[in-house]
Amino acid sequence: LLAIEQLSKSFGSNEVLKSVDLSVSAGEVVTIIGPSGSGKTTLLRCVNFLEFYDGGSIRIDGSEVGFRDGSQRRRRTERDLARMRAETGMVFQSFNLFPHLTAEQNVTLGLQQVRGKSRKDARDTARHWLARVGLEHKAGSLPSELSGGQQQRVGIARAVAMEPKVLLLDEITSALDPELVGEVLDVVTQLAADGMTMLMVTHEIAFARDASHRIVFMADGRVSAEGSPDHIMSGADGNDRLEAFLSRFR
Ligand code: ATP
Repeated sequence: LLAIEQLSKSFGSNEVLKSVDLSVSAGEVVTIIGPSGSGKTTLLRCVNFLEFYDGGSIRIDGSEVGFRDGSQRRRRTERDLARMRAETGMVFQSFNLFPHLTAEQNVTLGLQQVRGKSRKDARDTARHWLARVGLEHKAGSLPSELSGGQQQRVGIARAVAMEPKVLLLDEITSALDPELVGEVLDVVTQLAADGMTMLMVTHEIAFARDASHRIVFMADGRVSAEGSPDHIMSGADGNDRLEAFLSRFR
């Protein structure tokens, strides 16, 4: 479904992604782990059109996504871009909800403006997804009236309501107090059980082991190891960098 091939990206002289190959099949949950600065977030941002990349390709169902340079970007209208971006719903570490809109309005906005749904349709869809993340009673609340865990669940509802082909989750529990992490991870587990295709970056190693079909270990801008959770958690047959990374969690 998602095919990333030989992706490269630099910020000035800092080569952040060095020919990364990574694929995700329909219904698969793939988790990227790795040391800080290894390029995990940048990779997701390239898939979601938030960064240009320098070389290689990213395809979803065979169609190219992301941009290699500004001229590709300028040929698209904002509406076009929003529609393309919606194929890869993204949930952010810092929630990124619109502060002046209620939980329900945060979800309906894209449904109306990007998906072209009627107000009633958008509201029904938003209520359905808010209920699925356990927040039907908070539909009318502003983000400032919600806990971090609740805000992040609205963020997830907003992304999945758009029916993305792939859901991208970027360290979605990093900004949460420890006691709120579980409720967000439960929602992700539920989506995975429902067959949602996901590519996520997380520092929750135990969660990565339990929730993923496959784990990709990135180090220094490259895929250093990948395989089943058991294979990766047992050190992937003596990968030194992986061993060093995992030893911090033991
Ligand atoms: P973390 O786990 O700490 O979030 P990461 O693996 O997600 O790290 P990235 O955030 O992708 O790593 O960053 C990779 C490298 O790219 C880092 O060296 C970072 O300083 C650099 N970088 C990221 N964004 C930019 C930017 N907009 N401009 C310049 N350098 C950047």
